[in-house]
Amino acid sequence: DRAPLRSALLSVSDKTGLVEFATALNAKGVKLLSTGGTAKALRDAGLEVTDVAEVTGFPEMMDGRVKTLHPRVHGGLLALRDNDAHLEAMESHGIDPIDLLVVNLYPFEATVAAGADYDTCIENIDIGGPAMIRAAAKNHVFVSVVVDPQDYDALLAEMEAQDGETTYVFRQKLAQTAYARTAAYDAAVSSWMADALGETAPRRRAFAGTLAQTLRYGENPHQAAAFYTDGSSRPGVATARQHQGKELSYNNINDTDAAFELVAEFDPAEGPACAIIKHANPCGVARGATLAEAYGRAFDCDRTSAFGGIIALNQPIDGPTAEAITEIFTEVVIAPAADDAAMSIFSKKKNLRLLTTGGLPDLTVAAQTYRQVAGGMLVQDKDIGRISRDDLKVVTKRAPSEAELADLLFAWKVAKHVKSNAIIYVKDGATVGVGAGQMSRVDSTRIAARKAQDMAEAMGLDAPLTQGSVVASDAFFPFADGLITAAEAGATAIIQPGGSMRDDEVIAAADEAGLAMVFTGMRHFRH
Ligand code: 5GP
Repeated sequence: DRAPLRSALLSVSDKTGLVEFATALNAKGVKLLSTGGTAKALRDAGLEVTDVAEVTGFPEMMDGRVKTLHPRVHGGLLALRDNDAHLEAMESHGIDPIDLLVVNLYPFEATVAAGADYDTCIENIDIGGPAMIRAAAKNHVFVSVVVDPQDYDALLAEMEAQDGETTYVFRQKLAQTAYARTAAYDAAVSSWMADALGETAPRRRAFAGTLAQTLRYGENPHQAAAFYTDGSSRPGVATARQHQGKELSYNNINDTDAAFELVAEFDPAEGPACAIIKHANPCGVARGATLAEAYGRAFDCDRTSAFGGIIALNQPIDGPTAEAITEIFTEVVIAPAADDAAMSIFSKKKNLRLLTTGGLPDLTVAAQTYRQVAGGMLVQDKDIGRISRDDLKVVTKRAPSEAELADLLFAWKVAKHVKSNAIIYVKDGATVGVGAGQMSRVDSTRIAARKAQDMAEAMGLDAPLTQGSVVASDAFFPFADGLITAAEAGATAIIQPGGSMRDDEVIAAADEAGLAMVFTGMRHFRH
């Protein structure tokens, strides 16, 4: 099942490693065939190359749209070398076999990421390249196909080990990689077009990303895992620069994303903010007069859980903030930037991963989220819903004060990022109790209050910080019990979507307890 390798067609946009690779092939007696720019690069390096135009009898035309789309190319890739009729067709039409195809495609994803206009993106959709890749991959019983400069060395090593030939399994693996590339490429084109159309309604989407990193394992050590990126160049965990610490794990990436998306709710122009995440839920979110203070206040929400957490900041990290953060063990810190003082403080904590991104995620950008279920995939628009104070409807006799209103809006932003059922107590721009992921809303309300109580004891306070706090609920209170629990914990105002059949009961309970309550008309379930 070994196949000889006598001729290669090289046509690459990314010319990294090309000359070295082609030189090595040439030294092994492989004849080189190539397209315009690639042929020039090889010739400039002193290699002997045949132009594809010479083989096809046609010049490259239409701005390169038509270069290799010709039976002499595709016949050479697709012909079965052990089939008499195929051999006869080759003979009578003057088609020579092509044993190796080396193609990487027009950089469509990078062109989109660079913000190019529509026509430029269109011109960067490769046609001949994918056609050849698919042809060569289909015929992997005879043909090798390499679509990534990273695989050049592996091919040379294989030839070295197999007397200049390749084994079937090796070619099959190359073919599998090749189809992954063309699938991802077309998925990128389709997604870009979907964005260009700008409709929010779900339409036929293709799912594919580029393998960025093979992870040590998934959520648990017995689960294999990898990280795929979608080509976005926006600030976020996928594009972040890691300055120190070991490789991010699956859970780190998931939590870091949650942390950074949450802290991006807080406009840096309105002041510093910090979010600390554990198991994809915040255990503290706060504003502060300084970034260090914001961190300290977020930490004080739940000092126990914050240990080993993931910290996100909405402004460049300074020395005092880094100093405060490094007082306890932290897995990951992510921020738009870090100054020299911060970098030097962090550098003493070898295990801490520091990520900078150059900016914050843009939470207004429409996107999709995916969830796999047995037998299918659930796709939805990302929750980019936002409210302002004008959207709020006061439903109680008492309207919230200005201070309460500011905290209510703060709490609502946090609620969007907490797993349902979510209950968030906030005081003076800091969470003081977070209830997440419970199957009943009243339990979330109780747990958050209970944790605030624990913190008050640990900090030696007379009363839990829920005294005089406000509460956000990601969805309506189905009964009055949750609201009554919040009031008993000392809450004075509530923000929630409203819309329960028992809203009247819940409003009456709020009035009874002297609470101010506003309805948002928007729900933030997150599961
Ligand atoms: P070169 O730099 O050699 O002029 O062009 C290499 C690029 O052209 C590769 O990315 C390859 O995938 C692409 N390519 C090869 N044949 C065709 C074709 O017939 N049409 C188009 N649009 N692109 C091609």
